[in-house]
Amino acid sequence: MENDDDLLLLQNFIYGKFHTWDEICVFLKSLAKEYPQWVNIEAIGTTFEQRSIFMVTISSSFDNADKPSIFIEAGMHAREWLAPAVVMYSIGQLVTNSLYWKLIEETRWYFVPVANPDGYAYSHTTDRLWRKTRSPTLFPYCFGIDCNRNFDSHWSEAGSSKNPCSAVYHGPEPFSEPETSAIKEIVTRNASHIKLFLSVHSYGQAIVYPWSHDTNNSDDLEDLEKIVKEVVKSMESINGNLYRYGNAYKLTNCLAGGTSFDWAKEKAGIKYSYTIELPPDNTRSLGFLAERNEILPAAKEFFDGLQTFQKCIHKEFLQNGN
Ligand SMILES: [Zn+2]
Repeated sequence: MENDDDLLLLQNFIYGKFHTWDEICVFLKSLAKEYPQWVNIEAIGTTFEQRSIFMVTISSSFDNADKPSIFIEAGMHAREWLAPAVVMYSIGQLVTNSLYWKLIEETRWYFVPVANPDGYAYSHTTDRLWRKTRSPTLFPYCFGIDCNRNFDSHWSEAGSSKNPCSAVYHGPEPFSEPETSAIKEIVTRNASHIKLFLSVHSYGQAIVYPWSHDTNNSDDLEDLEKIVKEVVKSMESINGNLYRYGNAYKLTNCLAGGTSFDWAKEKAGIKYSYTIELPPDNTRSLGFLAERNEILPAAKEFFDGLQTFQKCIHKEFLQNGN
């Protein structure tokens, strides 16, 4: 029976493994088929190589248009395999573990687990350290743009490049790429009820908040920081891993224009907007090459942080009554 096969696949999905893009798609479709009352999967765009950019929406049947929501995108940088892996774990827990069903009653969750499918696939087949998309550029031998420099927030400014061969090429114009314009569309359309925007990367073991495009703090830095303090405290209790946090520029000493989380705050008006850099910490060189046995510890830590984010956001939503 078809349903039994789906269930078998769900039960056998190994979270502690780096999956190919195809495997992730099969899993997500099975999840939506097995839990149609809670899980919806939709293609929010199509990449240059004709892959669908999938978004997974998870919410209980007690849904309404204004339900406070959390938006999470991962895998904009192809080589950062840990990011989709930990997000897949969170999706699995929210849907299949009854301990967490309260979280999907209180909050609608939007996940784009592989925000750069072409790059992700290419990093599996050809170049493990590939970062960008796979769109053609003006230069015949240089492919791809950096999604996290292509958003319309101080686009083409510091920390990005106009050279198509650069790893931080910002593209010919803001939102030139299907990967970034898909996220723009969905976030803009739902901005009134998205209370938290989270961009998941690896590595560096840190949580940063705007701004990344210049050296200033956001006006509401204290509010952003208050939640992060709670989040890192809970994450650190899982494996003892310490997470740094702070204003993006001040913590990393690097400027970056055109990032998704700056855009979400500046242009989409989502107050609580963050980038999380997963383990390892920045003392390891080539931390992109996380080992398979690092997935589950990082995934548990991340999911714990996500629960704390949700708790803080939910509390604030109740207090403000909006
Ligand atoms: Zn990254």
